Amino acid sequence: MIGTLPRDGFQFNPLPTRVLFGSGTRVLLAEEARAAGINRALVLTTPQQQAMGETVAQDLGELAVGLFSGAAMHTPTDVTDTAQEALTAAGADGVISVGGGSTIGLGKALAARTGVVQVVLPTTYAGSEMTPILGETEDGLKTTRSGPEIQPEVVIYDIELTRSLPVAMSVTSGINAIAHAVEALYAQNGNPVMDALALEGIRALVGALPGIVADPTSIEAREKALYGAWLCGTCLGNVGMALHHKLCHTLGGSFGMPHAQTHTVVLPHALSYNAPAVPQVIEALRPILGDDPAAGLHRLAQGLGAPVSLRELGLPEEAIARATDLAMQARYPNPRPLEQGAIRAMLARAWAGDPPISEAQL
Ligand code: NAD
Repeated sequence: MIGTLPRDGFQFNPLPTRVLFGSGTRVLLAEEARAAGINRALVLTTPQQQAMGETVAQDLGELAVGLFSGAAMHTPTDVTDTAQEALTAAGADGVISVGGGSTIGLGKALAARTGVVQVVLPTTYAGSEMTPILGETEDGLKTTRSGPEIQPEVVIYDIELTRSLPVAMSVTSGINAIAHAVEALYAQNGNPVMDALALEGIRALVGALPGIVADPTSIEAREKALYGAWLCGTCLGNVGMALHHKLCHTLGGSFGMPHAQTHTVVLPHALSYNAPAVPQVIEALRPILGDDPAAGLHRLAQGLGAPVSLRELGLPEEAIARATDLAMQARYPNPRPLEQGAIRAMLARAWAGDPPISEAQL
């Protein structure tokens, strides 16, 4: 027994991103960008966060040479093409990504193509800033790759920037972060450091989300949630994910499902699928999520007004069979062997919005 969960041994290669965390930390951006080697910065964001992007460009002063506000979900390669033209035209040697996973994904795609330095100001809880992973979409197919050139150099967490994240998005984004930590707990290449981070991250987010629903501008709740998101994102960057992430990746990339909402709906079901294979993980989650942690996650989402069915997210029922096939085709480690019938049944429950199968029913 090493740490919270039983492990025979482990490897640990911490990733080198520099992290600053606090309220108002945005004021350090120009100094941090310079220290990271940036002389000409292109600010990246989405159309919805254009105003935030402009504010950050002002913070950068003469360091900012442009703003590209066309980032889109699942990093479509044609958007990256357009952004790369803007990067080249501006002669930028660095990007400042201000936003959630969509914006951060664009920054990573540009870094992978050109080697530009990335400074990230995350504004959701998705966790992409802490990972060397890039998921890109071309012709309706989402592919993922990983490499040191993709990992951002500097991450500046400024709690203030998260206060405008709408409540519904905050809840699903927070549960998206919890999903990273849950799968880290049963990762084949897990380690006791990530186990500790995962449990602390889940605890922080489960505690913070009701506070955000009650008062979306609460600094205390936002601080706790962002802290949890950092921990969960660190788990995502350091250890491999399993069935839950594979299913969400497929539903997002091949069926256009929205990222955080899909994670929110699928997570209780994926945990319930894996539960029989990971009794120690279930035990470790009980103090945070209740006796049946999968049911606890379902209740958490429902109680906070989040979607609980893939049907309400717009997935046609016929897609269940195809999504199951795609999840079966891919090769990745999962604690419970992949069983076509059980996965299809689990997705059918997630589609209908039924609670996850409880341990007693297995
Ligand atoms: P997002 O970045 O798409 O943001 C959702 C919406 O919320 C956007 O319109 C955005 O502009 C807006 N928004 C974000 N922060 C805001 C704020 N503080 N105030 C107001 N509006 C705000 O959503 P996401 O869930 O963060 O990211 C999803 C994408 O990230 C997916 O493509 C997913 O695959 C990817 N992702 C990648 C990794 C990785 O490690 N590679 C990890 C997590 C997510």
